[in-house]
Order: sequence, then C-alpha cells, then structure tokens
Amino acid sequence: MDKDLIVIGGGPGGYVAAIRAAQLGAKVLLIEQQALGGTCLHQGCIPTKAFYKNAEVMNTLKKADEFGIQLKEYSLDMKIVQSRKQEIIQRLHKGIVQLMKIHGVLVKNGQGRPLDSSTVEVTNSSGHQEKISAKYILIATGSKASNIPISGTNLPGVLTSTEVLELEEIPQRMIIIGGGVIGLEFAGIFQSFGTQVTVLELLPRILPLMDEELVKRMNPLLKKRGIKIETGVRVQEINQTSDSLIVLAKDKKDSPVEYDADLVLIATGRSPNTEGLRLDEVGIKYDRTGIEVDSRFATSVPGIYAVGDVIGGQMLAHVASYQGRVLAESLFSSPGSSSAVFSTASSAVIPVVPSCVFSFPEVASVGLTEEEIKEQGIPYLVSKSMFGANGKALTMGENEGLVKILAKKEDKQILGVHILGPHASDLIHEAALAIHQNLTAKDIAHMIHAHPTLAETFHEAILGL
Ligand code: FAD
Ligand code: NAD
Repeated sequence: MDKDLIVIGGGPGGYVAAIRAAQLGAKVLLIEQQALGGTCLHQGCIPTKAFYKNAEVMNTLKKADEFGIQLKEYSLDMKIVQSRKQEIIQRLHKGIVQLMKIHGVLVKNGQGRPLDSSTVEVTNSSGHQEKISAKYILIATGSKASNIPISGTNLPGVLTSTEVLELEEIPQRMIIIGGGVIGLEFAGIFQSFGTQVTVLELLPRILPLMDEELVKRMNPLLKKRGIKIETGVRVQEINQTSDSLIVLAKDKKDSPVEYDADLVLIATGRSPNTEGLRLDEVGIKYDRTGIEVDSRFATSVPGIYAVGDVIGGQMLAHVASYQGRVLAESLFSSPGSSSAVFSTASSAVIPVVPSCVFSFPEVASVGLTEEEIKEQGIPYLVSKSMFGANGKALTMGENEGLVKILAKKEDKQILGVHILGPHASDLIHEAALAIHQNLTAKDIAHMIHAHPTLAETFHEAILGL
C-alpha cells in the first residue's frame, strides 16, 4: 500500500479528515482538482460573509444620522469589495496549505476517482494519469448548485451563487429564485448594496426548515428593508429582451405573473458532486440525494468512506468538518485513547447542529422547531424574550427580533432555541451547549450573564421558563 488514506476533495470535510488522520499517525494523500478549502472557502461561507460585512457597513452608513453623524455622500466600490474578499480567501488558503505541510499530508492537484476498494486514479490537468493505493479511501467531493428544469437558465445574466460572488458591478434589479439560505443571504447583501431585490419562492414560506413563527416575524422586517418576497410562485421560463431578463411564472392562484430584472440568481438548493466519479463501476450505492453511507460513513464498498455535502443531509461546512474528524478518529485512533471517544459513538447521526442564516437580521437555530415538537407529541413550554427590551441591542441600534426557547414541560429540558436578531449566529452557541449537554432551564437560570450583553436576552427567555 502506498498510503493509509487517500482523500478525494479538499473542502472542510476532506482537509479536516486528512489533517486529523495525519495527526493520528496515518500516511495521507489528498487529491484536489481546484484549490484547497473547497466551496466553503472559495465560493461559499467565506466570500459570502466578506460581502455580508460590506453590507453591514452600508446599513450602518445608511442610518448614520441616527447616531448624529452627517454623511454628505458615500458609495460602494465593487472592485475593492472583490479585492478585500480575495485577500481573505488567499490568507485562509495559505493557512490550509501550511497545515498540510506541517502535518505531512501530501497534496496532489488533479481529479480523483476510486477504481476499487483500495485504488484511486488521479488525472492531472494535462491528462496524465496515475494509480495510487491505500488502505482506506475517503470521498469528500462536495456539492454544486442545482439547476431548475425550465428554459432560459443558460442565458447570460442568469447566475448561480458562484458567479454572483464574482460580480464587478452592482445590478439595479435582481430576482432570486429560491427563498432558502443562499437566496436570503444574497437578498440581504444586494439590497444593502442598493439593488432592488425580489425573492421568488415555490413553497408557501421562505426558509421552509426554520421555526415557522420566527420566519413569520422575519417577513415584515425584510419588507421594511425593501426586499420583496413572493411565495407560492412557480417559475416557468426566463426570457431576454433588449434591456431586461423576464421571469415568467404562475402565482398562488395559478395566474400568470412576470418579473423583470437585470440579473437572476438561481438558489434552489445544491446537489452532491458524484459526477465523474463513475461510482457504478466500483459498486458504490448513491442516488440524487448523495452517496449512501452507514452511521460510520462507510459506503457500500468496504474500505471506501464518504463525508460532507456529497452524502447529502445538512449541507453545512461545520457538519462536513465534524464528519471528517469523526471518521479519521474512528479509522486511526487506538482503542482507549482520548480521541477514540468518537470511534465508540454508536451513531454518526449528529444530534445538535446549529444552523445560521446571515440575513439582515440574522437567524440562528438549534434543536427542534415548534412544529417538530408538536409532530412528536412532546408536551412543551415556550418562552420568548425580545431584543427590543435589551439594553445592549438598543445601544447598537439593532433591537429587532427575539429569542424563542422551547423546553420539555415535564422538567424544562431545552429542546430547541431559535433566534432572530443581532449576532444570532454567535448567540446560538450557548443554546447549542445547553442542548448538547441536556441542560434544563434551571441549570442555566442560575448562571450569571454579563450586563449589558445580547446574551441577556437568552437568559431572560430562560428565566421566563
Ligand atoms: P466542498 O467544500 O464542496 O469541497 C469539495 C472539494 O472537492 C472541492 O474543492 C472540489 O474542487 C473537490 N473535488 C470535487 N470532485 C473532485 C474530484 N473528482 N477529484 C478531486 N477533487 C474533487 N456552510 C456553512 O456552514 N456556513 C455558511 O455560511 C455557508 N455559506 C455558504 C454560502 C454559499 C454561497 C454556498 C454555495 C455554500 C455555503 N455553505 C455554508 C455550505 C458549505 O460551503 C458546504 O457545506 C461545505 O463546503 C461542504 O464541504 P465539503 O468538504 O463536503 O465539500
Ligand atoms: P436551500 O435548500 O436552503 O433553499 C432552496 C430554496 O429554494 C427552498 O426554499 C426551496 O423551496 C426553493 N425552491 C426550490 N425549487 C424552486 C423553484 N423551482 N422555484 C422557486 N423556489 C424553489 O438551498 P440553498 O439556499 O440553495 O442552499 C444550499 C445549501 O447551502 C443549503 O443546504 C445550505 O444549508 C447551505 N448554505 C448554508 C449557509 C449558512 O450556513 N449560512 C449559507 C448558504 C448556503
């Protein structure tokens, strides 16, 4: 065997698995066809959050007079927005390259595919092929934007998130098809940049997996900012005129509707990257939702594993990296060692995954939604606390939203926490810890929270229970 582990794909799932395996003494090769860091670093989490910060600064400037600051004029230079984003990506990319070197992970640039349970074929950009063998193979090839089966999606100006992140000019009017996480993050960003944004969502509500009450409360806040949300819309085709893109659709009542824009973003979900791997030839089972794995990330072929977006489920960077780490530890930890704790886990199902939407205001959620608790028939209590009553939120001028906590009626064990408001994505981690550790409201009620902080809103909701 040339190696202990070959990892195909250098995103958060693949590179974290590679580093952890190497830390545990494995000889590791990682094959990446583009750049280390994957979608998350180059076309996902990081570039969108760089844009998000630009949008936040723009929003602050817009209300500068509330703070007694008179600004005569200001503008946004997309070239600088882009170069700032690129610098952040480059810096993080350099960090991952360095980590690979430090841990002795060999990185090969090329396209990998498994040939059998212990052999991988690598094809580099000039077509040169080689075969390398290993005890284990990990597929972590990620995902790509899904398309929708209508005409006009290949017109210029009809883009996915990847291309929108490369825009050098701010569009005047943007239509976003899909009111999920990507749709709402870009809606907030471009509305703040000055674009007129309309979101077209197929289902009766946006963010269909989030707590319904939170989304209901979010809708008027988006409207107030000027984002138009149309739900129950079935997009039929996209046409181009001399100066616009026209999206033809049917509304809730099945009546034809038309929307025009300079740019259309398709954000209707992502599909696992299984193309080109020729999984059928090796006998690896998969379908359109991803590669089939068991609770230990083993595919249907012994010795071949898969983690991250390519196995479907929650397509999040922190889920991919968690899975990568768990897998590396289950393969290479010696029994009884402290890191072997993961290898003894009976299931790889992740119970507590915080999920965040970087919209304006932010949304963050962990545990069960109220709808899920009702479906499961668990007797529950609900407590809410508003940011409007929080001193820190008022000083920040960001007092919209709330913290909603759902707990078991019997013993007030925390079941779900849903936050709409400033820094929701940071605040959610106290709730994640509470659910992860099966804490009750009483456990947290007696914990002192510093004043004045946004975290007091969480504490107030706990005290309410
Ligand atoms: P990826 O990151 O997709 O990495 C897979 C890698 O495999 C890629 O580098 C690819 O080039 C490589 N590859 C593919 N096929 C081959 C092959 N045959 N041979 C060699 N290499 C190959 N998640 C969050 O948690 N928070 C966020 O804020 C967030 N924001 C996002 C914003 C956008 C616009 C998008 C699109 C996604 C966002 N995500 C976010 C999701 C996140 O990016 C993914 O969940 C995460 O990147 C998945 O990691 P992965 O390792 O499974 O796959
Ligand atoms: P998504 O599944 O979150 O949302 C897609 C939305 O498009 C859904 O609301 C769906 O009902 C709608 N839709 C589907 N077909 C449609 C159609 N024909 N017309 C109109 N609407 C339609 O997917 P996404 O927003 O593309 O994001 C993809 C993945 O990336 C998600 O799994 C998400 O978790 C991840 N991501 C995470 C973050 C974050 O953690 N902050 C940010 C961006 C992306």
